[in-house]
Amino acid sequence: MVQKIEKKERMKIQRAQMPEQAPEERVRNFNEVPHGLTEEQALSEAQRCLECKKAPCIDGCPVEVDIPAFINLILEKDYAAAARKIKETNSLPAVCGRVCPQEEQCEIKCVLAKKFKPVAIGHLERFVADYERENDLVQIPAVAPPTGKKVAIVGSGPAGLTVAGDLVKLGHEITIFEALHKPGGVLVYGIPEFRLPKNIVQAECDAMRDTGVTFENSTIVGKMDTIDELFEQGYDAVFIGTGAGLPNFMGIEGEQLIGIYSANEYLTRSNLMRAFDEEGYDTPIIRGTNVAVLGGGNTAMDAVRTSKRLGADHSYIVYRRSEAEMPARAEEIHHAMDEGIEFHMLTTPIKFIGDEEGRVKQMECLKMELGPPDDSGRRRPVPIEGSNFIMDVDLVVVAIGNSSNPLIQSTTPGLETNRWGNITVNPETMQTSRPGVYAGGDIVTGGATVILAAGAGKKAARAIHQYLTNGAKPE
Ligand SMILES: Cc1cc2nc3c(=O)[nH]c(=O)nc-3n(C[C@H](O)[C@H](O)[C@H](O)COP(=O)(O)OP(=O)(O)OC[C@H]3O[C@@H](n4cnc5c(N)ncnc54)[C@H](O)[C@@H]3O)c2cc1C
Ligand code: SF4
Repeated sequence: MVQKIEKKERMKIQRAQMPEQAPEERVRNFNEVPHGLTEEQALSEAQRCLECKKAPCIDGCPVEVDIPAFINLILEKDYAAAARKIKETNSLPAVCGRVCPQEEQCEIKCVLAKKFKPVAIGHLERFVADYERENDLVQIPAVAPPTGKKVAIVGSGPAGLTVAGDLVKLGHEITIFEALHKPGGVLVYGIPEFRLPKNIVQAECDAMRDTGVTFENSTIVGKMDTIDELFEQGYDAVFIGTGAGLPNFMGIEGEQLIGIYSANEYLTRSNLMRAFDEEGYDTPIIRGTNVAVLGGGNTAMDAVRTSKRLGADHSYIVYRRSEAEMPARAEEIHHAMDEGIEFHMLTTPIKFIGDEEGRVKQMECLKMELGPPDDSGRRRPVPIEGSNFIMDVDLVVVAIGNSSNPLIQSTTPGLETNRWGNITVNPETMQTSRPGVYAGGDIVTGGATVILAAGAGKKAARAIHQYLTNGAKPE
């Protein structure tokens, strides 16, 4: 146990800086960029917490992790107990400690943030989760006696994994159907290794398998079995966590040229199919010398930083608004800038130009200026007439957002959706318009965050359990 010091003294402690690979070194590999806090740093950082009675940081966390309680367990040097404390409400702390936008959630609410830097809650979360996993302290949870009820989960992203983890403990028989050959959703096919090592997601899935969850990979529900057929096969409830995996395109001339990828395809080739690992895998991928990534979100940052690591001389972000409106995490934007990514702000392509073999060679762009705010609350980009210019590019990655995959909706009669094709649910229970069918994560909200998907999974698991123990079976 660390001797606690006076609150006034705690405020003088500097926020711990996570050690990381230097930019010139990391652009040549796919290893994780930040190394994680050392134990000494974690203890020093934990000392900064003022153990506020009302703890506003908890209100900032979408799943209300008891932040001061887990930080206090760090000071007791019981790191595995700290990890378990987080897991009471968040099943994926090693993932969330790496990818959650804490700067907009818990940390922005930390009282220290008013005068100093907030407690590095995300860094501490990652520290305890890594400690627990690396020291083999992850406990397989106790499982209640079998209830005889079967639940099918469609999609193995953070939403589906959370539902599975919660329901298997309650004694239900759980099968996850996943379209891809590996479980994890965006955590595996979208977010690159240098931000979220895949062995971490694999460890979460392995732990679930050990608890009794069955994974049916390479199974597309809606193409093979429909939701109704799953009920006919004896499932008592279904959770749909199929995410928002349908890429949006610009819809401009030349978009079919060779060398123009959706971010989904580009990142899936690199991450899931490991095209970056030339020695171990022969997955084809266009590497590109002058690479333009269109967009300003996390996906765009992941794609552009991947292109640099795949050997591009110039990797550009082309974004129609300014840096202030970029939806990507501040940390990712800074990491990208440090790695030499060139930012073309207030710029939008209007046409792709190909060579005689049908490969993209140039992009005609327009400069923009910011007008009044639009529906999203961000200032609307307005084209500047006559500002056209040409950029030389040999690879373009379109990262302007995703829509929901329509397969399940179109093969499940009576399943209501909104005008964007997202499944509509009761926000308290995540129940859809079909009895016994629940949904959560990006398929409901559109592209959002890992923690919101996991939080939706928690709510759905509670409601499904209630339904299975008290409710009627669907007709
Ligand atoms: C590149 C990228 C980077 C991101 N970075 C961050 C970040 O830093 N921080 C953050 O919080 N969020 C980030 N996000 C968003 C976050 O990853 C998502 O909000 C989250 O993964 C949504 O979880 P989900 O469970 O709803 O769906 P997903 O993770 O999308 O998983 C859905 C799964 O369902 C499967 N599936 C789809 N249809 C079927 C079917 N018919 N049958 C069987 N399986 C099916 C899919 O193959 C997929 O595996 C990022 C997203 C992307 C694309
Ligand atoms: S608000 Fe900040 S200082 Fe207060 S309990 Fe939360 S992390 Fe600690």
